[in-house]
Amino acid sequence: MLLKTLREEVLEANLELVRRGLVLYTFGNVSGIDRRQGLVAIKPSGVPYEDLTPAQIVISDLEAKIVDGNLRPSSDLPTHVELYKFFPNIGGVAHTHSEFATSWAQAEKPIPCFGTTHADYFHGSVPVTERLTSSEITKDYELETGKAICRTFSRLDPDSIPAVLVAGHAPFCWGLSASSASHHAVILEYVARMAYHTLLINRETHPLARELHDKHFLRKHGSNAYYGQVKTQ
Ligand SMILES: [Zn+2]
Repeated sequence: MLLKTLREEVLEANLELVRRGLVLYTFGNVSGIDRRQGLVAIKPSGVPYEDLTPAQIVISDLEAKIVDGNLRPSSDLPTHVELYKFFPNIGGVAHTHSEFATSWAQAEKPIPCFGTTHADYFHGSVPVTERLTSSEITKDYELETGKAICRTFSRLDPDSIPAVLVAGHAPFCWGLSASSASHHAVILEYVARMAYHTLLINRETHPLARELHDKHFLRKHGSNAYYGQVKTQ
């Protein structure tokens, strides 16, 4: 089977969304990429999660052309491919319609960093895209969604903020692997829920102080990170 290990990883990352309560029915999709071969593995469209097998994961190239698989890929494949092209370090993309992150996307409001949980994962607010124009929606909608995300990151670092809210739609997250992308989708939903509750308690809440935000992000990420155990490999 072509890219057996990647298919298994992508399947597992999709199932993680179900286990964490982020998807209803067949909503959502996760993909992973083999950078060496330039091939993407993605969930098929409309197949119930409980029925998914590695063989059903669809393999496409970076033009969103199917290379292997009998099923149609997730209709969001062109969005995923655009992100892989524009964000060279990412290895996986996860898309959900999880309740709180999607609520922020619908409100077209970036999620401010109100606490260290957010700062541990996202080095800044989680941004929201501009709305797509009517011609972008009519023609190549999924590709244009990817382009809108990339425009949002023209002055942001996708490796430091591994998530975006697509205006009027829902979040896309990414990471070094498919499982990392799903993990970020789970954390984003948690952070989005807490930000909502924070504003309910006090709508005048200020974002976290820059120093504390930087401290929490940088102790986990980057060349001087010291959180967790020393990696020997
Ligand atoms: Zn969607």
